[in-house]
Amino acid sequence: MTREYTEKAVLHAHPHFYEPGIGRRKKIEERVFRVVQPMPSLKAIVNHYVVNGFSIGVISACHTSKGHVDNRFEEYMQELTALESTYEIDSHLNRGWVAFKKKNMTGSKPYFILLKSQEIRTIYKNKTADINVLGGLGNIGAEESIIDTANMAMEQGRCVTTCHPNSIIHSIELESAINMLYNGKVHGIEGFNATESVERNEELANALLERKIKGIAVPDSHFYIQTPAWTLFDGELIEKFSMQGLINRIQGQDFDIHTRYITSMQKHLTHTLPIAFSCLLRPKQLAEFFRKQ
Ligand SMILES: [Zn+2]
Repeated sequence: MTREYTEKAVLHAHPHFYEPGIGRRKKIEERVFRVVQPMPSLKAIVNHYVVNGFSIGVISACHTSKGHVDNRFEEYMQELTALESTYEIDSHLNRGWVAFKKKNMTGSKPYFILLKSQEIRTIYKNKTADINVLGGLGNIGAEESIIDTANMAMEQGRCVTTCHPNSIIHSIELESAINMLYNGKVHGIEGFNATESVERNEELANALLERKIKGIAVPDSHFYIQTPAWTLFDGELIEKFSMQGLINRIQGQDFDIHTRYITSMQKHLTHTLPIAFSCLLRPKQLAEFFRKQ
């Protein structure tokens, strides 16, 4: 069956560098950065996706280290009532997603699915490697073996993809990512990451093309309005959404992609700047940052 891939989906994007952090004591660098770049509300995030014609959007947690769990999806879910006047809300929070149906049916796309995602920093051959875990209840711990982490997530019915498999840091690296995919250890692979360099994305695209593998396209941005790259699915997935349906599409490479980059200025303002703030205020971290480059 040939499908029409009309539904735009963002599967890996961070609405802000930090999570809302309700009740959490914030370090000085975070407080400073949050003045420069205010934290968006759930309503702003959902409206951005809907106004721009997305059928699936995501709130991706990061900063997962052994000592810190990022609960941003759960925190944002406390704001759901603010959307009740605009949408009929169908929550599946035990599976990590929420369906919104527009009450005022203007526009062609009545449904919008918001997914929970967690970018987990795992360990592969003594190095860090990020995977993106979509859906599910609660958060999985970081800094454990990539295989064990991916296994656990898949057993819990979550969808697992390797992040930026051709990046210099926090990556399993291309050949190992492809092996994980071939061996069924992940459901999919990122084939385009809008924050990655053109050279590395092209190298990745060629390697996947040679093996006839399709990779999803993701923005991996750190601000909610930056969604220049996306994956396209068929309409049936959205209308009868389930995590298994999403897993089937990704595993079956039943999608298309749209690739465009985040500008380096956008990347610096939303990602490099908060890292620079924390480094400047913490010399030990600065040394660590340069050691890893
Ligand atoms: Zn990310």
